[in-house]
Formats: sequence, structure tokens, C-alpha cells
Amino acid sequence: MKKLAVPLFLWLVFEVIAVTLWLALDNLFYLINFSYIGSCLALGIFLYSKKVRFARNLVQAAVGLYMLVYLGIFSNENMQIEGFWYYLFLGVFEAAVIHYLVAKLLGPFLFGRGWCGYACWTAMVLDLLPYKTLRQDARDAQELRKKRLGYIRYLVFLTSLLFVGVLFVFHVPNLERAMLYSFLIGNALYYGTGILLAFLLKDNRAFCKYICPITVFLKPASYFSLLRVKLDKDKCVSCGKCLKACPMQVDMLDASRSRRNGTECILCLECIRECPKQALHL
Ligand code: SF4
Ligand code: SF4
Ligand code: SF4
Repeated sequence: MKKLAVPLFLWLVFEVIAVTLWLALDNLFYLINFSYIGSCLALGIFLYSKKVRFARNLVQAAVGLYMLVYLGIFSNENMQIEGFWYYLFLGVFEAAVIHYLVAKLLGPFLFGRGWCGYACWTAMVLDLLPYKTLRQDARDAQELRKKRLGYIRYLVFLTSLLFVGVLFVFHVPNLERAMLYSFLIGNALYYGTGILLAFLLKDNRAFCKYICPITVFLKPASYFSLLRVKLDKDKCVSCGKCLKACPMQVDMLDASRSRRNGTECILCLECIRECPKQALHL
């Protein structure tokens, strides 16, 4: 029953969103869209908790490809951060704005950075690269690197806002087409940079840690997340296996919300899976 509780909770949250938006906006798309995403997430987390090894990768592919290929390319909905600014400036409460509200602005108060663990189409590819975890020396170097490179995400965030602002200020014609091109070019840049950084720094998630502008939204809200990895100190034998398994270098041995790298947690559940004493849980 315990293993069912989290997937069921997530599925219910997405169903409430699906039905509310369907009825409020009188648009069946929202019912299908959020029911599909919620069901994929719930099924994936359930299977992963049952130790089905590639369940998370399958969910990433099911949700990520749907959003990238169907929504982004075929339906011409720019789901990148530029798309969010674009629809916000237009005053259109449509797919990209709703997507950001659910997955990246309000959702993280409930399910933290679950988006980053199960749905992001950039991470869908990055997680297939060979550097899933870091060696100890690389972990130490990363802390230093974060201090030096952590500001880049804010630059990318501001650049995306400025880019869309310029399109509006200079009345660039055929904005829809411009947004489609920016979606394609933006994704190519994300994939290129992400893969290059992963190999250079021997860390699949380096792009997430230093470059991704979405984290400017995700990190503050996920600090308060209802769903988070909790530690039962009485069961812990300090073996350190969880720390080695974590792709985001979260210090889950500190039970508090202000644990080191706590807002980096993508709820991948690797630490829970690795713990020999069942001292970690959601
Ligand atoms: S940090 Fe950015 S690139 Fe990484 S998983 Fe999250 S949204 Fe995707
Ligand atoms: S291993 Fe644990 S602490 Fe690290 S990102 Fe995954 S769920 Fe979060
Ligand atoms: S893997 Fe479990 S027992 Fe080992 S340090 Fe982590 S929480 Fe403690």
C-alpha cells in the first residue's frame, strides 16, 4: 500500500488538474494531456519502486517525446522558456503557460523537481549518457564549480526574456514562425551543450546544475516540496551508498530542508533503491 501511495497521489493531482482545466476552459485537450502525463508518471514511479530498472527512462521517453515532438514540433507550441514568455506577453493562457504553472511554478510545491526526473526531454537524452554518478574527487570539484558557474543559469534566463522582449518591441513579423525556429534552435543548443558538458565534466546532469534556466523557477519552490526524500536516522548505518548513487549530490543524510543541494533533488529514487537499511523514503 505504501508503494502505491505516492503514484496514486500524483495521479490524483494530475486528474484534478485535467478535469479542472477541461471544464474551466471547455477544451478536451487538457483532459487528455494531463491524464496522459499523470498516468505515465504514476505508472513509472510505481514500476520503479518495484525495481523495474528502466521504468524512469521509459516515463521520460513517453512524456518527453510527447511534449517535444507532438506539442513542440507538430502542434507548434513552444514549450521552452521563450514560449512561456511569448504566451505570457500575448496574454494567452494556453498550453505553454499552463505547462509552466503546473510543472515548474506551482507543481514543485507538491512534487519538487519531479519534472526534472521524469518528464524533461533534455534530461531524457542526458540520462542515457555514461556518467550517471560522480566519483568522490569529481564531487568535491563540483562544489567549487557550482560557486563559479552557478550564475550562468540566470544569464540564460535573462537572455530568453530579452530575446522575446526584442521580438515584441521590434514588431518582428510572423512571430509564430519565429517561435517555432527558436524552439528548434533552442533545443539543438540545449542538447549540444548538455552532451558536451556531460562528457567534459564526466557528469550527465552538468547542464542541469550550471546552465538550465528553468531551475530559476524550480529550485525555490522545490525547497518547500511536500514530496521529498526523508531520512529515518535510527535505521541509517552511515554506509554512504545513497550519497554515491545520487546524480545531483544531495546530502540526504541531513534530514532538514536546507540539506546541501536539497533543491537539486530530481526525485529519481536512486538513493532509496541503494539504501540497504530502508532508511530513506518519500
Ligand atoms: S534542470 Fe532543466 S534540463 Fe535539467 S531536467 Fe530540469 S528542466 Fe530539464
Ligand atoms: S538520489 Fe535521492 S536525493 Fe539524489 S536526486 Fe535522486 S531522489 Fe534525490
Ligand atoms: S544508504 Fe541508507 S544506511 Fe547507508 S548512509 Fe544512506 S541512508 Fe544511511
